[in-house]
Amino acid sequence: MISTVEDYAASLRALRRRVYAMGERIEDITSHPLTRPSFLAVAQTYELARDAQHAHLFLAESPILGSKVNRFTHIHCSTADLVAKVKMLRLLGQVTGCCFQRCVGMDALNALYSVTYDIDVAMGTRYHRRFVDFLQKVQRENLVCGGAMTDPKGDRGLRPSQQTDPDLYLHVVDKNADGMVVRGAKCHQTGTLNAHEIIVMPTAAMGPEEQAYAVSFAVPTDAPGLTYVLGRQPSDTRKLEGWPIDVGSAYGGHEVLVVFQDVFVPWERVFLFGEHQFAGVLVERFAAYHRQSYGGCKVGVGDVIVGAAALAAEIHGVDRASHVRDKLVEMVHLNETMYACGLACSSEGWRTPSGAYMVDVLLANVCKLNVTRLTYEIARLAEDLAGGLLVTMPSQADLEHPEIGPLVRKYLSARVNAETRMRVLRLIEFLTTGPGGAAYRTESMHGAGSPQTQRVMIGRQAQWEKKKELAKRLACIT
Ligand code: SF4
Ligand code: FE
Repeated sequence: MISTVEDYAASLRALRRRVYAMGERIEDITSHPLTRPSFLAVAQTYELARDAQHAHLFLAESPILGSKVNRFTHIHCSTADLVAKVKMLRLLGQVTGCCFQRCVGMDALNALYSVTYDIDVAMGTRYHRRFVDFLQKVQRENLVCGGAMTDPKGDRGLRPSQQTDPDLYLHVVDKNADGMVVRGAKCHQTGTLNAHEIIVMPTAAMGPEEQAYAVSFAVPTDAPGLTYVLGRQPSDTRKLEGWPIDVGSAYGGHEVLVVFQDVFVPWERVFLFGEHQFAGVLVERFAAYHRQSYGGCKVGVGDVIVGAAALAAEIHGVDRASHVRDKLVEMVHLNETMYACGLACSSEGWRTPSGAYMVDVLLANVCKLNVTRLTYEIARLAEDLAGGLLVTMPSQADLEHPEIGPLVRKYLSARVNAETRMRVLRLIEFLTTGPGGAAYRTESMHGAGSPQTQRVMIGRQAQWEKKKELAKRLACIT
């Protein structure tokens, strides 16, 4: 079982994978400067779980194993579990200041647990038992799972089966007595290089003509036929330069394009095979869990941004100005609004027939739709309070230069010395417009589904007729 960060690093190094970054092959993602920060972020999900102070958040009693497991592998057994998840994610956001990546797999495990149960009841299949066998392995070994949902989609005006290139949606191309073969790709996959297993799900609801696309399964991340291409982030080459101040943070996230070139999946790892009627509910449940997640993780990162903005105000000597205090209070208000939504959809969770607890879907979508907007406003206020130096500062190399260093130190000092000021501003830059900004802003917009998908779900769950009846009654309309 993986317990320590060292165990975790060794387990990833043992995987033989085809990983490319900027056109070059990477062998060890735990030490490569482009990927190490994201490895360190996921490592915190192991590290904090070992701290007795956080055990109530990071450990949960698994009825499946009959012992305590890391919550990232746990199936929620109550609304208290759902609330603990949000609190755990907020704490991790506070500690890492970035996307710590492991929640996608947790959300995929929980969605598949209840949906495989429902498929078996409706169709007489045996997916749930298979899935629980896989889940037991994940829990016993304390593995990291990636959750893979988003297909490339090609021409979005066409259905999967109408695409000129059928591989633009991941699909089954062959099968035999032992298993099936799949081809396609999954885009902007969070943290997959730090995962031991990939859990694949359909990207959207599927129709009867799309049975080959209605497929869900798990494969080890070093399965033959898998290729990974690391996505770029703003200012990412700073990680290669070796100046810690200029990078701004020790932690980070990553996304990859994962290509499946005729990957074999044994039947015992297949959890949906052609039952197209269940693709939609699987997407909906996974998305709702992940939209709940954002009410924790982004709030934790928001705490760091608020703290950094407050420090910047102090450093610049404006912390007592009333308009500055107003902006800081506004940032807290926005941040806690997202947290309130994360807690609300958890507290209003409900028991599925499988026994697993599901979040309130309407409130989870409201949570995520708020995240698509409020993070931007928090980042905007942080940039406002930081001042223009945020993007005009010289580098650490200039700061340490024997001739120009004293000049930079003299003219960049404020209430504190230049180096301290630069560290705070670089952190804000990292979190809002640097690699961290990719996670805090763009991922807040598009991660767990772009805003329109939340609007669609909110529209579906709004109970329009009930609301109209309430209005009619008070307007005395019969
Ligand atoms: Fe977890 Fe948040 Fe990253 Fe999604 S965006 S994987 S919920 S930290
Ligand atoms: Fe995400």
